[in-house]
Amino acid sequence: MGNNGSTRAPRKRSRTPSRKKPTSGVSRRALLIGGGAAAAAGTAAVLTRDRLKRLWWQVPGIEKPRKPGELDYAAATWVAASEGNWRRADRPDDFRIDRVIIHVTQGSFASAVKVFQDPAHRAATHYIVGQDGRVVQMIRELDVAYQAGDRAYNERSVGIEHEGFVDRPKDLTKAMYESSARLTASVCARYDIPIDREHIIGHVEVPGTDHTDPGPHWDWDRYLELVRRAAAAPPSPTPSAKAAG
Ligand SMILES: [Zn+2]
Repeated sequence: MGNNGSTRAPRKRSRTPSRKKPTSGVSRRALLIGGGAAAAAGTAAVLTRDRLKRLWWQVPGIEKPRKPGELDYAAATWVAASEGNWRRADRPDDFRIDRVIIHVTQGSFASAVKVFQDPAHRAATHYIVGQDGRVVQMIRELDVAYQAGDRAYNERSVGIEHEGFVDRPKDLTKAMYESSARLTASVCARYDIPIDREHIIGHVEVPGTDHTDPGPHWDWDRYLELVRRAAAAPPSPTPSAKAAG
């Protein structure tokens, strides 16, 4: 909720737009009137379509209008994931979002972006955070990312990948923790998710998973403290995070 200001009433327009009077012969007049009528009919069609769209938007279960490249988190850069790795939804209206799932990529930032663009991968998260703190968003939070290996957990969560390997503690940088914490704080604020270990979980904690990420070196106490701190601080744009490639 809250990313589309759609409660505005449709703008009123006069039904008969003023037309310039033709200044020359009958055939020219006929031509102008004919053109005007066609234009008016076109305008009416557009208005009707517009009105219908707005009405539909208010019906639960009808998907909201989207703009290509639209972000849920302003400090991210948009890179679209392949549609093979997520499915269209209308969250939080159709599925309530009450979990953030933390992953570690087991590869580079670039390789994570690449596999999420591959329709055959059949998995992706909403966001990837780099070791330098940059954030890309690849799937809208409205939609269900195939990230947890469990349908119910996919439907209820926002997933965040972190660049690195689970057995390399040095991969988990300060810049990454801090940037990710700001992102998680903003997700929690959007959906009223409590900032605790019941609601911010690792992939390893999803029932039935055989994944171990984010691994034993992920510092949960530090991370939750950073998320709480970010949630308490006024939102500040992070210009360095804009430089994602
Ligand atoms: Zn994972």
